[in-house]
Amino acid sequence: MYRFEQKEFDRSVVKSIGGLYEDLDVSAYYTSHLNELIEKPEQHLYLAHLTLPVNNDTLVSYLQDELDDFGVFTDCHLGVYSAALNKYLYTDVLTSTGVREKIKARVPVQARPYDYIALYFPNRRQYILSQMNFLITSSAILLIVLVLFSAGLYYFYRQKFLNETQKDFIHNFTHEFKTPVSVISLAADVLTNKNIIEKPAKLATYAGIVKYQSDYLHTQIEKLLEFAYTESGQLHLKKEPVNIHQVIHEAVNNLAPLIHEKNAQLTYDLNAVDPMLQADRGYILIVITNLVDNAVKYSKEPHISIATKDSGRGLIFSVADNGIGIEKKELKKIFRKFYRVRSGDTYVTKGFGLGLIFVKTILDAHGGKIKVESLPGKGSTFIVELPRH
Ligand code: ADP
Repeated sequence: MYRFEQKEFDRSVVKSIGGLYEDLDVSAYYTSHLNELIEKPEQHLYLAHLTLPVNNDTLVSYLQDELDDFGVFTDCHLGVYSAALNKYLYTDVLTSTGVREKIKARVPVQARPYDYIALYFPNRRQYILSQMNFLITSSAILLIVLVLFSAGLYYFYRQKFLNETQKDFIHNFTHEFKTPVSVISLAADVLTNKNIIEKPAKLATYAGIVKYQSDYLHTQIEKLLEFAYTESGQLHLKKEPVNIHQVIHEAVNNLAPLIHEKNAQLTYDLNAVDPMLQADRGYILIVITNLVDNAVKYSKEPHISIATKDSGRGLIFSVADNGIGIEKKELKKIFRKFYRVRSGDTYVTKGFGLGLIFVKTILDAHGGKIKVESLPGKGSTFIVELPRH
């Protein structure tokens, strides 16, 4: 827009000079095109051919009228240059208000082999900018409106996302707890039957069901409590020397029923020469358990590889699976609270969407890092780096 306004200004000045030629009745002398009669050696200066002599008062009066007519309302310093003497014979200042002021004209001298009048506009830049004031103000307002609008949209979608994930959580939560409770209730009904004493095999089966389901409920409640505990910002680490290889075996041991149920194959590449860390053992166990649990949960026929190695900063361990994988656009989201990847309208397995955020919180507290590499349909690898101290 600024460049456009500059061109407009140039055009108005050229037209004013054209009008001046006509007023002075000299246009017939100049057969060339108007643009060829006007030179612009610098941004603010215009030199227009005009053979002397010329009446200065008439010149000033005509020029003032033409500039007004073509809307050039900024101070114009005028110089009448004689080629023979190589200097201005006359200078004057035409003010934007039309009032003659006693300002000394400052017209840069340009040596030329012909007579000319010089029009110098020292305030050209400010004048053009002032012409654009409306545009600048309206653009600024538009920009502010756009920014506010985008911020509004952003918050709206964030809120929508939070509402949806929260709703999902409640749904998962109820689902996760309703089934075991109904199963326990049914089993309890059977167990309260007087005749059950006479059928010890049946009694054992139903007692087993109650035990299994209440254990399951217990683990789920533990998970939620652990998370709620860290949510309230109370992650106090009790650091001690931890052998990561031992913790890996313990985590796998804890998951034995699930591993057995899904017939998961586990391989180990525990290559860390020094498996010792200064860390909170309980929390590191939760990290590994969650990652292995996910690897088993999200694979149809799980082949899981657990590896460790030394790194410059500390220790790296990874859990790789051959499961459903995660799409690139979901990779960042899976570390958010309650977030779970959907497949169509449903979820692949049960869960609360709290495992990975818990893992991340624990790793952050230890100064560790986690990253994921995944190919949908091929599998995922979660890589954790922990400092030794
Ligand atoms: P949950 O497993 O209870 O849903 P997580 O926080 O542990 O919660 O995981 C969040 C989501 O990340 C899961 O719902 C799943 O969609 C995805 N995810 C996590 N681990 C894996 C994995 N090994 N393979 C495929 N998807 C995974």
